[in-house]
Amino acid sequence: QTRAAPDPKELAKAILAGNRAVLARAITLVESRKAEHRAIARELVQILLPHTGTARRIGITGVPGVGKSTTIDTLGSNLTALGHKVAVLAVDPSSTRTGGSILGDKTRMERLAVDPLAFIRPSPSAGTLGGVAAKTRETMLLCEAAGFDVILVETVGIGQSETTVAEMVDFFLVLMLPGAGDELQGIKKGVLEIADMIAVNKADGDGMIRAKSAASDYRAALHILAPRSPTWTPPVVTISGLANQGLDALWEQIELHRAKTSATGEFQKRRADQQVAWMWDLLQQRMMEALKNDTRTAARLKELELSVRGGETAVSMAVEEIAGLIGV
Ligand code: GDP
Repeated sequence: QTRAAPDPKELAKAILAGNRAVLARAITLVESRKAEHRAIARELVQILLPHTGTARRIGITGVPGVGKSTTIDTLGSNLTALGHKVAVLAVDPSSTRTGGSILGDKTRMERLAVDPLAFIRPSPSAGTLGGVAAKTRETMLLCEAAGFDVILVETVGIGQSETTVAEMVDFFLVLMLPGAGDELQGIKKGVLEIADMIAVNKADGDGMIRAKSAASDYRAALHILAPRSPTWTPPVVTISGLANQGLDALWEQIELHRAKTSATGEFQKRRADQQVAWMWDLLQQRMMEALKNDTRTAARLKELELSVRGGETAVSMAVEEIAGLIGV
């Protein structure tokens, strides 16, 4: 016995009323591989669109062990204590391989997991980073429509996932470990370039002095980089996610960033640019999917792949032939 397909209008109504069970179900539709589920999800997002966009969208990255879940648990709890509704999402393309996401894991955020004002959703396991990101973006919109006014998107500092997350949030927070002196050469310059703030975590007990010295190293490193924004110089702060130190100051900076970049229009431009980039991403994925499922090219694509592998056909020649087959 199959359940009747859910009606997007009914789903939308329940989500707007803050119904979490329905929110979770709708996210499952967004993440589904079934075409009919995705069609419902698309309609749902379209209906909810006018009720989205007001949340603080914050990305958080850092190497495993830096304290992402500890800091999110503490920061999130501080925010719900102030009456904010906090959603924690994760982008972890490796979860497909490992069969489960370590990010956005409820057991790693003990307080938020039982907080009625918080909602935690692990990473979709959709395969490619692009696929995972597309689903997380839609999930973010659903959460905003459900009244979550702070969205924290967690990602591990490996590969391209940081850049991808930075492109879907208003503010990108990079967590670092103390004692970075030796590490500094090892860290990717790229991550400093996309950071809106660096927080050196574990600035407590014995770690305090090393954290402070790491912070000044990062300040110096940031100084060398050309600033990304005329209005915003990424601050470097020290925090302790565990001891709940420095997190109020950290949040103040996030609010200040919002105020300053809203005043100059940078905030609105960043969001608009992100929307357009998202459209192209999605279009690209959709086109590739269409190509892979196109019966006109399927057999020939396989042959050409072999031929390119064997060095018999030039790559450009193979691509041109396939393009010709689909008439572009
Ligand atoms: P994640 O892998 O980045 O999510 O890191 P976790 O939040 O799981 O933290 C990794 C380890 O560092 C755990 O043992 C935490 O208890 C510890 N930790 C996290 N934040 C702090 C902190 O602010 N101070 C100290 N001393 N330890 C911390």
